[in-house]
Amino acid sequence: MIYQRSDGRKPNELRNIKITRNYLHDPEGSVLVEMGSTKVICTASVEYRLPFFLREEGKNQGWITAEYDMLPRSARKRIIRDRYQGIIKGRSQEIQRLIGRSLRAITDLTLFPDRTIYLDCDVIQADGGTRTAAINGCFIALYDAFTKMKKEKKIQEFPLNKFLGAVSVGIVDGNALLDLNFNEDLIAEVDMNIVKDEDGNYIEIQGASEHKAFSDKQLMEMLKHADDGIKHIIGILKQLVFEELF
Ligand code: UDP
Repeated sequence: MIYQRSDGRKPNELRNIKITRNYLHDPEGSVLVEMGSTKVICTASVEYRLPFFLREEGKNQGWITAEYDMLPRSARKRIIRDRYQGIIKGRSQEIQRLIGRSLRAITDLTLFPDRTIYLDCDVIQADGGTRTAAINGCFIALYDAFTKMKKEKKIQEFPLNKFLGAVSVGIVDGNALLDLNFNEDLIAEVDMNIVKDEDGNYIEIQGASEHKAFSDKQLMEMLKHADDGIKHIIGILKQLVFEELF
């Protein structure tokens, strides 16, 4: 029997995805990415500087880094801003490092020496899968920033090597489900986040049992759902990019 999801989706069905480009006036790249009710603003800002560890090594390359945060009322309960707690939450650190690693994995950093691109991800409404939505949104924000740099002759070659896509999967009541919403995430026995490139190769797998250990079979089911979902997401990203080119 097929598991009945609270929003009526099939186990391997994504929520609706919408990406609005040039969402803000000033950044080199900016999008509003929506996956179902999850909404994240992603901006790409280009600065003429390098982190200390790269400068020290005298490496002739650029860098991409990310920051992630949630607005206080992006969630059902108000989130206290970090500055009032005097900390950067461990969750935000983990997520922003994942976002940075994912986008660096598909970029040739040697093609924009001495520049850092800051990817800022701000969740304005959270309904599960905010980190994976942010990665998909950052792809387009970064693409647009590189396009601008190329037009302005700040770079010679386009640094993005491949498309990528990111999605969450999990196990709820023993069933493998794609793209969990908040209600599903809350009761999930397993929660995974998968990032892959357009060749079907893995960029990152974050997966953990929340209540119950999972089997090989369940893992394979989750990976299959993720693969289907990511192919669909990459199709959407390609359409957005190619629409603009032709
Ligand atoms: N969430 C929340 N408050 C928080 C952190 C998370 O309400 O401080 C909710 C939010 O809807 C988020 C979901 O819990 O999307 C799942 O969070 P998780 O840490 O698994 O990350 P995500 O799935 O958003 O990448």
